Amino acid sequence: MDYITLPQTATAFKDIFHEGAAEEYNNAVNSAKQLVNSFLENNRTPFSGITPDQLRALFSQVDFDTPLPDYESLFREVEELYVNHATAFHLPNYIAHLNCPIVIPALAAEVVIAAINSSQDTWDQSAGGTLMEQKLVSWTCNEIGFGAQADGVFTAGGSQSNLMGLLLARDYFAKEKLGHDTRKNGLPAEASRFRIFVSEMTHFSVQNTVSLMGLGEKSLVKVKTDNGFRLSPADLEQAIKKELEQGNLPVAVIATAGTTDFGNIDPLVPIGEIAARYGIWFHVDAAYGCGLLLTEKYRHLLNGIERANSVTTDYHKAFFQPISSSAFLVRDNRYLELITHHADYLNPQENVFEGLNQINKTITQSTRRFDALKLWCTLRLMGKEKLGTYIETIIETTEKTANILEKDGDFQLLTHSDISALVFRYYPAGVQDDVFSDKLNQYIKKEMFQEGKAIVAGTRVNDAFYLKFTLLNPLTTLNDIRNIVSIIKKHGAAFMKQHLSPAL
Ligand SMILES: *Cc1c(COP(=O)(O)O)cnc(C)c1O
Repeated sequence: MDYITLPQTATAFKDIFHEGAAEEYNNAVNSAKQLVNSFLENNRTPFSGITPDQLRALFSQVDFDTPLPDYESLFREVEELYVNHATAFHLPNYIAHLNCPIVIPALAAEVVIAAINSSQDTWDQSAGGTLMEQKLVSWTCNEIGFGAQADGVFTAGGSQSNLMGLLLARDYFAKEKLGHDTRKNGLPAEASRFRIFVSEMTHFSVQNTVSLMGLGEKSLVKVKTDNGFRLSPADLEQAIKKELEQGNLPVAVIATAGTTDFGNIDPLVPIGEIAARYGIWFHVDAAYGCGLLLTEKYRHLLNGIERANSVTTDYHKAFFQPISSSAFLVRDNRYLELITHHADYLNPQENVFEGLNQINKTITQSTRRFDALKLWCTLRLMGKEKLGTYIETIIETTEKTANILEKDGDFQLLTHSDISALVFRYYPAGVQDDVFSDKLNQYIKKEMFQEGKAIVAGTRVNDAFYLKFTLLNPLTTLNDIRNIVSIIKKHGAAFMKQHLSPAL
């Protein structure tokens, strides 16, 4: 019988993270660090302007069957293929999507998370990691204003947290109102009449969520918004009544605290009251708005969130955390029993570590990264107050930016923002209609991206195309904004010149 002879020398296993590989580990991480430093030094615009074809051409050389000789060549290749052309969220002229700049303590935490590689599903794979996560969950619940019964879990993102909220809402309704166990028996016959109330501004992922949950998009009832694009409570109540009259079953309402497009906060107090009155689940999507928990000055905008049954918070949207860092929180820990599943090998029912297996609180993940350590290190080192001043700076810069756009006759601003997102279009004299304006503003957005000096987002509102600023960087100044505005005008004027025939 042949045995495979394992190599015995110290260098043979140098790629495996172990006590004999400390030098290799340090060298590798130092090379990676150098790459990051050169990113900071060299990437001075948010985007290089490279086209997909140009970038794709560089990939044709890569052959996985021929490994590179050392970390130096490895990271040189990574630099050419990726880092040189990566979108640089940390630059003040990046004000496109909901990507915040990130804080250093969280980056240092990433080094520890990656190397120690705990898995948060069970106590025996994480120990202190579980307690740290639980303490951060309690902290967030406390900031929300939940009582001692509250609980939650870190998730991969807001979409997943919203899914968990709606899933609990569905199963809770089935159990409490219909005496039906959805986990065991699947959807009840009545499920085709389940209705979930959202606004037109609710995050788009909710449509996928209800499909996934077997309720279909038809289960979503889109409630009108007011002129600040906030869900209108009066219209919500009317919509609920109408569905009841038609024999349908109102199950949940989602209020958004910080809509993705406008950063506006739905009126949480009246929506919560209506939800309570009709006995429906109240989920608050605070993926973006959770940042206001950090600031005393603007915290009042979230009043009413404490009455939610469940809440989504995305620390990677508004707490200056690297992706991923997010949580799903419930007012009453008993709700989570609806999703507890006892896998015998992971958390047998006779488990002695009662309450310490976070897997009982998740539905879509088993093995799970210790993302909580990033927020832990951030809060312990910087404190809530300092993070809060960053949020206040962003909000104030946004308000001043809104004033700049409003005063400038070349722009149409749709509304002010409770947080930091502004939707507007370049619409100077001579533009006659939406069709022309759409082409003009799409051109501006495209040209800006290709130029790479400043990046803004775009969105559609009432079928027309608008530009969007999302200001999440406290380093973005009004001078940066004025500069970005002039870049917009430059491209806009060029388009106007090309497309409007000169007056004869
Ligand atoms: C971004 C966002 C989400 C989705 O969160 P991910 O972390 O991207 O999955 C949900 N709701 C709102 C309001 C958001 O802005």
